[in-house]
Amino acid sequence: MRLAIAKIDLVALSYNLSKTKQLAPHSKVMAVLKANAYGHGLVTIAQHLTTADAFAVARIDEALALRAGGVTKPIVLLEGFFNKSDLPILLANNFQTIIHDENQLAMLESAELDAPIATWLKVDTGMHRLGIEPSQLEGFYRRLKASKNTHSAVNLMTHFPCADDLNNARTQNQITAFKQLTNDHNEQLCLANSAGILGWTESHCDWIRPGLMIYGVSPMLHCQGVDHGLKPVMRLTTKVIAIRDIPAGEQVGYGGRWQSNQPTKLAVVAMGYGDGYPRHAKHGTPVVIKGHRYGIVGSVSMDMITVDIGENSEQIAVGDEVEMWGPNLAVEEIAECADTIAYELLCNVTPRVGYQYIS
Ligand SMILES: *Cc1c(COP(=O)(O)O)cnc(C)c1O
Repeated sequence: MRLAIAKIDLVALSYNLSKTKQLAPHSKVMAVLKANAYGHGLVTIAQHLTTADAFAVARIDEALALRAGGVTKPIVLLEGFFNKSDLPILLANNFQTIIHDENQLAMLESAELDAPIATWLKVDTGMHRLGIEPSQLEGFYRRLKASKNTHSAVNLMTHFPCADDLNNARTQNQITAFKQLTNDHNEQLCLANSAGILGWTESHCDWIRPGLMIYGVSPMLHCQGVDHGLKPVMRLTTKVIAIRDIPAGEQVGYGGRWQSNQPTKLAVVAMGYGDGYPRHAKHGTPVVIKGHRYGIVGSVSMDMITVDIGENSEQIAVGDEVEMWGPNLAVEEIAECADTIAYELLCNVTPRVGYQYIS
């Protein structure tokens, strides 16, 4: 029996996808499954997103794992390919590729392929990570149109760096610039990540690329999934493995970073950074036991944390379930306590944690 378990609510997953579609009713959905479906389990999540139109991953290995798992929908590679020798793999597996630079375009043009590959030309409208300059669009577009190795449709996409912040004007500027730039081309456009979908209706266009929100979590500043009517998909749980009496004035855990001011009881909980729980979770970061919140004290260690259960100690016993995040405790709140983002916590869940899928 494993102690640490990620319970994955597949009903919530389907619910979030339909909620996403309601928000962008005219857009096709490319559900983003990179990093093991944000830590939720790549193939199982894909198999349950039956109404998505396509999937997107970052790396070819992730796409191959989906095919090996029997997933047949189109898969888009968000970083494209890296070598000419990747191209037959793309073709054989019906992978679509981003084209984000000259190097990729040249490899694609000069390859000897049996059939054309579907492409997404990525334009950098301000993120300055991947993508061609707006001024390069015409040239790239014409070459992709002309190449025998690519489908005649050249899908066009861009990405937002700041769409989580509704007060940041960059997103609107990007939307306007991208639409102007692509106006003369009768092609499919794709701009919106989750934050674009939730915050910027004008960005929805032909395709959307939701990631975090289909897992029921909010990308927006100071928001939680429930604020958008989403339901958290992951419930990370473990158990109490010991209850300890601590006299006043004792230091607890590595480095003795916490000291009891008064006699208290601690629950020792089987969850640590070896499971993906953030080591930087600060003093007082909540956990939920039997419907009540308690704060962690002392350092998070590899396999355990200590929780001050003070007054309520009679109600808690060894073997009780502890929720680290989930429907009763937003992962967004834990991320804030650990000075990080929910994305990182979700995809850092380690293989030591067992997965239970609930449908
Ligand atoms: C990860 C990613 C997404 C999904 O982002 P979310 O914020 O999780 O919705 C969309 N597009 C690109 C290019 C990405 O890398």
